Parts: sequence; structure tokens; C-alpha cells
Amino acid sequence: MSSKYIGTKFQTVFKDKNAIKDDNISILIKWCDHFAELGLSPKLIGGFGGNLSFRTKQGFIITASGVNLKNLSENDLVEIIEADILLKKVVVNGTKQPSSESLLHYYIYSQRPEVNAVFHGHDEQVLKKCEQLNLLITKQEQPYGSVKLIEEVGKILQNYFYIVLKNHGFLSLGETMDKAGNLALQIHRSSAK
Ligand SMILES: [Zn+2]
Repeated sequence: MSSKYIGTKFQTVFKDKNAIKDDNISILIKWCDHFAELGLSPKLIGGFGGNLSFRTKQGFIITASGVNLKNLSENDLVEIIEADILLKKVVVNGTKQPSSESLLHYYIYSQRPEVNAVFHGHDEQVLKKCEQLNLLITKQEQPYGSVKLIEEVGKILQNYFYIVLKNHGFLSLGETMDKAGNLALQIHRSSAK
């Protein structure tokens, strides 16, 4: 992806400015580590690519904007409790700006009740081989964190669990975090062959 990271493109309202707590946070941090080790969260100009989330009772917990996924702590996670795509606004618990793709994650959770984990990474290997591997690819490249990108994903999402964002990265979805993570790993490995 060529565009530079300039932060989030929506307004964030902080409701509860404390570090968030949830029993599943350790699983998310484990997968963030895996993504960092595999190079699926590369350093870009202005921050790191990739953002991971899981569904909670109130909404979902997601990695903070531009954060390095290696050695994350609870302070690097934010819980989205309300969002509005058209108004470009999110209401959160936590101390940091949530990922710039928070509205995309929100959209997917709202469309897919069976999905409890949304993992987004940047995988050069997969981008190179996505056609060869017959992966589902968005038709047009769109700027990160944009409503246009959400619309582009909406055109092809249906019931699929793995989508390539053209010239950008991938979305791996799952009923659990382990399913979303393992799917991303499996396709990463198959792209290496
Ligand atoms: Zn990205």
C-alpha cells in the first residue's frame, strides 16, 4: 500500500478513560504477536499496518491506531461500544485512539452475527499470489480507513471468511480468534509455495 498513515479518519468520543479488561485479551495479544513475527504488521510511514479485534458484550475490542503489534499491553487496546459509519464517529472505552479501520470492523460485526473475530493484516506474499490462489479480492483499491473501503468490502463480503483488500492487505474472519488467526496463517503459508 503506497498511502502514508496519517491516523484515524473519524471522531473518537472517550467514555471511560481506563485501561480495558476482558478475559479474552490474552488471546488477542497472542495473535498480535504472531502477526508481528510473520511480518503481517509491517512498519509504514507514520505507524504500523494491521489491526485485530474480537467481539465483546458491548461491542468489540480492537488494537489502537498505528500501534506496533509486537508486545502489546492492555493499554494498547480500545473497546468500541458505539459507532456510526456515516457520521464517522466512534464511542470507546480506553485510553488511546482506536485503529483507523474501526468502522470497517464495526461494519463486519454488524453484518455477520456469527463472526466474533476480525483480523486485518498486510501480507505482501498473499497480495502477489492472490489471483493464483483464487482468493476473493475487492474490485477497486480504496484509501485505508475510508467509507469507500467499507463499501468495497460490502460488495463482496457475503458469507466469506477471507478477503483480499486490493493492493493493501487481507481480512480474516472467524467464529473465534483462533479460527481467524489460523486461517490467515494457512493462507500465508500457501502463498509461500
Ligand atoms: Zn491496512
